[in-house]
Amino acid sequence: MIINRRKFLTLSGLAGTSVMLPWSGIYAGRAETGVSEASGGVKISYRKIKLRLGHTWTISRGSTDYKEDVIVYYEKDGIRGIGEASHMTGAGQSAERTIEELEKIIPVYIDADPFSFSELPEKVNEIIAGLSPAKAAIDIALFDWLGKKLNIPVHKFFGLDPGKYVDTSFSIGFDKPEILKQKVREADPYSILKVKLTNINDREIIETIREVSDKPIRVDINEGWTNKEEAIKMIEWLAAKGVELVEQPLPVGMIEETRWLKERSPVPVIADEAVNTSKDILPLAEAYDGINIKLMKSGGIMEAYRMAVIARAFDLDIMIGCMIASSVAITAAVQLQPLARWLDLDGSLLISNDPFNGAQFHDGHWIMPSDPGIGVTEI
Ligand code: MG
Repeated sequence: MIINRRKFLTLSGLAGTSVMLPWSGIYAGRAETGVSEASGGVKISYRKIKLRLGHTWTISRGSTDYKEDVIVYYEKDGIRGIGEASHMTGAGQSAERTIEELEKIIPVYIDADPFSFSELPEKVNEIIAGLSPAKAAIDIALFDWLGKKLNIPVHKFFGLDPGKYVDTSFSIGFDKPEILKQKVREADPYSILKVKLTNINDREIIETIREVSDKPIRVDINEGWTNKEEAIKMIEWLAAKGVELVEQPLPVGMIEETRWLKERSPVPVIADEAVNTSKDILPLAEAYDGINIKLMKSGGIMEAYRMAVIARAFDLDIMIGCMIASSVAITAAVQLQPLARWLDLDGSLLISNDPFNGAQFHDGHWIMPSDPGIGVTEI
């Protein structure tokens, strides 16, 4: 039960001297900011942000020009942690849905001891069972708060070496050949390219890129292939073109076919859509070479770390990936980068109006922030 929630008092007109922001910014009939405060001194608030994309973004599921994320703040003892919910294109996720979900899970966090962080995701899962960027946003904000409270960066909390890094790949969205070449040229600061294949003109896309770049390429099929014999032929062709890994080549349900593919593939086969949390790892452990861990799939930093530990126990390599997001979600993921063999953290590099300062990008890789928490400040 929530005791003395100030928001309730405010909404019911009973609040005396309210020191917090009122509900504001009605969008499409729904609040886009909110504040909840408990008697224990925890205050959780959120606001919607609009991120502009450098390029229209096309993958096998659809296209978009901008996206809306939700920033979450966790405050206690005069310390404020920041988290972010970023949404997957075409997966039914949205800022509005995240706000609805936040309203359901804020009560779990607002009355809890912040140092019960490892148990809170389980309680949240009882309220919202599946994928939810709202879970990730609040978990990230709590870890940012914990790091600041303990005066250590989050990677230190997990005993990770801040000097350990790999270069991140940079995503090139599907487009017409001339624009595709322009995007590849613009990707000059990045040492590895990631390409979303759509099962339409896949060879043409790779050949177009090869006209202007000889950088390693990683391909993401997003479940777009359905025939294992055609898939292995395509992977062999891609490998000969300098493609170094294949992400989610077949639909999630085709586990046996993916295992068949993995046994024959000259390059690693990575699970993305097939794995959201640690509970998904066992059934697919023999069908893939590695898993793509994303904070927005796992529900935050705590579960992402658990996934990495379990993946290693099954001899699976680790990729850390992201959605298109601001520096908040990306810097939070950078905190776990020492765990990764492959890094795909380009989300904040794909937007043109990042409202935050976070991890700095240099010479193809992220530099681990040394500030307490996740290492993000508001611009
Ligand atoms: Mg993917």
